[in-house]
Amino acid sequence: METDKPFDVLIIGSGIGGLSVGIILSLLHFRVAVIEKNPLPGGLMRSYQRDGLDCPVGIHYFGSFGEGESLRRMCDYLGVTDRMTVERMGKDGPIDRYVFDDFTFDLPEGLDAFAASLGQTFPEDRQPIATIMKSLRTLADVQNSFAFLSSSPPSLDMELLAPLWAYLTQIHCSPRLRSVLGVASRWLGMSETECPVLYHHLALVSYLLSSWRLRGRGSALAEAFVTRFKDLGGALLCGDPAAAILASGNAIQGIRLASGKMLAAPRIVAAIHPKTVLTMLPDGAVMPRHARRIMRLDDTEGLFAAHVVLDAATHPAQSHNVYRLSADRDGLLKDGVFYQLRPAGGDKSLLMIITNSPFSEWRQWEDTTTGRRGEAYDKEKARRAGRLLKGAEGIFGSLAGAKVLDAYTPLTIRDWVNSPQGSPYGIMRSSRQLSSEAALHRQLVGGLYFAGQNALSPGVLGTLLGSFQAVRQMIGYDRFSREIFAKLLSGEQKRAC
Ligand SMILES: Cc1cc2nc3c(=O)[nH]c(=O)nc-3n(C[C@H](O)[C@H](O)[C@H](O)COP(=O)(O)OP(=O)(O)OC[C@H]3O[C@@H](n4cnc5c(N)ncnc54)[C@H](O)[C@@H]3O)c2cc1C
Repeated sequence: METDKPFDVLIIGSGIGGLSVGIILSLLHFRVAVIEKNPLPGGLMRSYQRDGLDCPVGIHYFGSFGEGESLRRMCDYLGVTDRMTVERMGKDGPIDRYVFDDFTFDLPEGLDAFAASLGQTFPEDRQPIATIMKSLRTLADVQNSFAFLSSSPPSLDMELLAPLWAYLTQIHCSPRLRSVLGVASRWLGMSETECPVLYHHLALVSYLLSSWRLRGRGSALAEAFVTRFKDLGGALLCGDPAAAILASGNAIQGIRLASGKMLAAPRIVAAIHPKTVLTMLPDGAVMPRHARRIMRLDDTEGLFAAHVVLDAATHPAQSHNVYRLSADRDGLLKDGVFYQLRPAGGDKSLLMIITNSPFSEWRQWEDTTTGRRGEAYDKEKARRAGRLLKGAEGIFGSLAGAKVLDAYTPLTIRDWVNSPQGSPYGIMRSSRQLSSEAALHRQLVGGLYFAGQNALSPGVLGTLLGSFQAVRQMIGYDRFSREIFAKLLSGEQKRAC
């Protein structure tokens, strides 16, 4: 596509957020360009290779991709479903196994199976389980009908905005039940004392309805979105970061790239972190009180991850994930490590291990860039990876012969996708921050829209919902309802693809 002529919309960031907005707008015949700072598109979707093996970064598993479920319907609308190679988890066993110091809980597929499993494991919690299941079933309907995107979003009980921990205490859950339910708040990068019940329940429901992981490479997923976008006529400009957003008065004019090239458009969708967006706007473009609110928002805490290659004969792939967890006597989760043992091709398996690691632990290398952080950093990564490997033996037995392929830190994520302090899930959607993050839903400058995981919620599902919400904000509800919402619900778009 000719890039010297003005575009209708410029999108900053080619993660799943930016590319999906690009696809939706292209389907509506907007002339769109996606701008990506990295040489390759895809953001956190894209995996990388070590020793010829594929190492995923930001997509380990996701929910609600079953026929008729919300993520599947959005992918159908985008026209990417048939380009994705995925496998269903939890068909012949659990989706997740939670291993605590003194008990184990298996998370099954299906709301009924979950209710039964909770009932068997926690017979003394009959009443709180009934209360929680009622809420989960209501929210499953809300999610599957895209009620939050409709003209009359559902009115919510105020208790759904309270932190999960306070709610579970209020309905008299036992400590063990609290610790089991607390895990889903970690999927959103929050502790159960911070995570609103609403976000927790929506995330849990989405995985209970059906859980999936990629069968192929993460890069193949990125390419599925890229090719669909390009097939629809979208322009993708990689390797040249957006450096400044050009605005005059309260109107967007375009973008200046780091190379100095100017791109003109009356609308911009920023599918990157909002704090970065503020630094790109001209002084005074945003009301200081809105800017302050956004700059003060806390982000989710960093992660440390190791990729380990194992002999598939002794350690075959498992179709469920394992969480090794510790909780205090009240059931509040203290430590957690996530494991996924997946096929790596041939006679190899890949063990992915992820745990929390705040940015402060890596601050001494803050001013370094990827590949040039020095020996001490490499040693620290190797030390931590070794420790994680040792811990993994408690779950998987002897890992003699295992080889650590690679490890990444919050600095890696920061530099790969420009996320402040390597925050994996962006802004923390905690109960405490709900009113401040509302600043993200208003138009700070005429023609500027937020998308990506910071618009609504993180994860594949949350990010895609945020893309549809951003487009709804741009084109208005009437057009959205006619040209998108009806097709999302009916699946008509998929048949047309
Ligand atoms: C370790 C980890 C594990 C995760 N696991 C899961 C999981 O199992 N399931 C799940 O659903 N979610 C998971 N997530 C979350 C999920 O990956 C994200 O919510 C989602 O991918 C975010 O997509 P995005 O488009 O908002 O952002 P990104 O993928 O970060 O894309 C933003 C893009 O913008 C680009 N960019 C930034 N600044 C500029 C600029 N100035 N100019 C041009 N381009 C720019 C970046 O390079 C990047 O490509 C995980 C995240 C992490 C970090």
